[in-house]
Amino acid sequence: MQLIWLRSDLRQHDNTALAAAAARGPTVAVYLLSPQQWLEHDDAPCKVDFWLRNLRELSHSLGALNIPLLIRSAAHWDQAPAELLKLCRQLKIEAVHVNEEYGVHESRRDEAVAETLRAEGIEFHSYLDQLLFKPGTVLTRTGTYFQVFSQFRKVCYERLHGSLPSRLKAPGKQAALNIASDAIPDEVKGFATPSESLRALWPAGEEEARRRLDTFTDAQIDYYQSERDFPAKPGTSQLSPYLAAGVISPRQCLHAALHSNQGEFESGKVGAVTWINELLWREFYKHILVGYPRVSRHRAFRPETEALAWRNAPEDLKAWQEARTGLPIIDAAMRQLLETGWMHNRLRMVVAMFLTKNLLIDWREGERFFMRHLIDGDLAANNGGWQWSSSTGTDSAPYFRIFNPVSQSEKFDAEGVFIKHWLPELAGLNKKQVHNPASAGGLFGVADYPAPIVNLGASRDRALTAFKNLPSRQSAGAVNE
Ligand SMILES: Cc1cc2nc3c(=O)[nH]c(=O)nc-3n(C[C@H](O)[C@H](O)[C@H](O)COP(=O)(O)OP(=O)(O)OC[C@H]3O[C@@H](n4cnc5c(N)ncnc54)[C@H](O)[C@@H]3O)c2cc1C
Repeated sequence: MQLIWLRSDLRQHDNTALAAAAARGPTVAVYLLSPQQWLEHDDAPCKVDFWLRNLRELSHSLGALNIPLLIRSAAHWDQAPAELLKLCRQLKIEAVHVNEEYGVHESRRDEAVAETLRAEGIEFHSYLDQLLFKPGTVLTRTGTYFQVFSQFRKVCYERLHGSLPSRLKAPGKQAALNIASDAIPDEVKGFATPSESLRALWPAGEEEARRRLDTFTDAQIDYYQSERDFPAKPGTSQLSPYLAAGVISPRQCLHAALHSNQGEFESGKVGAVTWINELLWREFYKHILVGYPRVSRHRAFRPETEALAWRNAPEDLKAWQEARTGLPIIDAAMRQLLETGWMHNRLRMVVAMFLTKNLLIDWREGERFFMRHLIDGDLAANNGGWQWSSSTGTDSAPYFRIFNPVSQSEKFDAEGVFIKHWLPELAGLNKKQVHNPASAGGLFGVADYPAPIVNLGASRDRALTAFKNLPSRQSAGAVNE
């Protein structure tokens, strides 16, 4: 008997470990509930709920193939080896199959499980699945991990020209086993069930993910490059929660994009090329996580920035978290996050820069808050995005390029449509005032909207000084882990 241990690969199509297990013989699936570990990782309640909802869909579709899905508990990943060993003994499992996950805790967990199982004569196989290229296989000429995205992408292109990763079919139906699937819990203690309105935005299941991918690549991808930066437009795929939970694979996304662009990934339609570029950013940050494990431990990619004099400003942090900064584009974006579990990419950059530059608050505070609320929360992409915005990361924004939230707002939400959707209290302002109600002054000021908590010019200068005062800006690559 074969066991597939499901983690962030909640699908039956194009699932490498599942296909490998089923090819070897009768297969059973298991998922471990690890609430203590999830809390330590700041996994958001809406994300945990999304996992459970997808597990329910998957249990159903695996059931149709006679593959039972079992649910076991290992509150902390330390308990995973013993829990899996117990199950393997009960079911006389010959081999366990998993898709690789990245991050220091994930790697340590898998090594411990592999060691425990192998000591009992049970095979443990892990497969590349979450990425197009295995970390450690896209390297510089001197054998190190790339730190610059454009160089990384160039090598990815060369690889894709050589051979495209292909998709795998879902396994066929196996003979019925005398093992019943477990019920999927409605919720896990410690993770409150999100609102129905949030859930309705993110229906579970492979069919929904596929529908989104098809709709996007059929109708929207051609406009992606020109519309992706405007939060009031449905310009992006909104596939991130599905990719993060593995309800869809990057291979499926890549093939769909290629299909819309006559098989081209670096030429042809600019929309498809730009979207594939984003899939490669996803790839890049996961490679960085493996190549520079310090970022997995919430340390700055650029070690010299660890000396930055971040402000301890709990009131400002709270105002940012609660969408009360008095800067409409920031507050509207934070409301979007709190109510939907998702935020538009342009706005993630804007609010992250505002927190780390204008408020000069440590990027780790923002990273943690995002993780606790994002339905697509992903250690590598979130850390990469935060360190990019705070100029502490690889290939990040230069510290002197600080977004002005009001100019960003005027440029990317010119009519204030997004702002007014999330801040109805500003509905009465015209398209000039809506970006900066304080500028409208007394008579036209908005009674129940706060004044800005910070002066943008002075706080920008404060951030520039803090960065300039850093000791030597040494090369990050020279530092040992
Ligand atoms: C501060 C900050 C935090 C972020 N945190 C996360 C996170 O926790 N999880 C997450 O998936 N993305 C994160 N991102 C990246 C990006 O904002 C989201 O992936 C994107 O907004 C998801 O929307 P979409 O699916 O419509 O993307 P699309 O524009 O349709 O892109 C397709 C896919 O490409 C990937 N992708 C796109 N942009 C990026 C990027 N910059 N970095 C890595 N992958 C990317 C995502 O998987 C996305 O679903 C973060 C960005 C910033 C600036």
